[in-house]
Amino acid sequence: MTGPVLILGGTAEARRLAERLAPARRVITSLAGRTGAPTALPGETRIGGFGGVAGLAAYLRAHRVVALIDATHPYAARMAANAAAAALDCGTPLLRYDRPTWQPKPGDKWVEYDDLIALAAALPNLGRHALVTLGGADLSALSGALGMRLTLRAIDPPARLPDHPDLDVILDRGPFDLAGERALLSQRGIDVLVSRNAGGQATRAKLDAARDLGIPVALLRRPVRPVTASATEMEAVLRWIEDAAPIEGE
Ligand code: NAP
Repeated sequence: MTGPVLILGGTAEARRLAERLAPARRVITSLAGRTGAPTALPGETRIGGFGGVAGLAAYLRAHRVVALIDATHPYAARMAANAAAAALDCGTPLLRYDRPTWQPKPGDKWVEYDDLIALAAALPNLGRHALVTLGGADLSALSGALGMRLTLRAIDPPARLPDHPDLDVILDRGPFDLAGERALLSQRGIDVLVSRNAGGQATRAKLDAARDLGIPVALLRRPVRPVTASATEMEAVLRWIEDAAPIEGE
């Protein structure tokens, strides 16, 4: 019997891929376990870290994984690196199911940074009140954004807040629409937006709202991840899996 496809998940893309694959073949989706009660996924689910490269390689061998799909979030750099190293070690075909980056449009005032320390230090030059939308990232570097107000938006209360004297937290979960984002920025007097380049539609509206209102965006660039085969379209991912790991008997 053909072994399973292992999807490294935690994203909408991973869920959609499991939905497409599960009726026809064995699929295991791996979640980091950050969410207390994740919604059920088609196919099998495993939860929790593997224990680094060696742990993932042992898992790939023990479960006879025929193809590994890295469908983690674009900022999950450690998991992406572990996946590349373990796949190489085991000879397991690996594909990254990636999300295209957002591209600036005319009128956008984006300033891009490689790391949060540099971004925080530059932020007071861009505005007086920042809306910070950085997901579950470690926000401690934001204590360097001196002399300004920070409003953090997060899905869950941040585990550790930056040490900053003028800080507010809004708990909210996307998708967000343009009208709502415009209202939030205007009503709170936000004059600079802090964002990652996550890609996708669910959280894109804040960038459009910032452009409409002439607000600059301090954008944290994506982390470097190992070069691997990658695809951004579902149909290309499905074709790649069929080529890399055809179902036996077909
Ligand atoms: P990370 O920094 O790259 O990963 C840290 C460690 O968490 C990994 O070394 C691994 O532990 C474990 N891990 C990560 N993803 C895993 C997965 N899918 N299955 C099993 N173990 C996993 O990643 P992160 O930024 O903490 O993100 C964790 C998960 O949340 C990912 O699945 C990602 O897709 C999802 N997510 C992240 C973001 C984000 O903003 N980063 C946003 C939305 C969803 P071991 O070394 O022990 O194997």
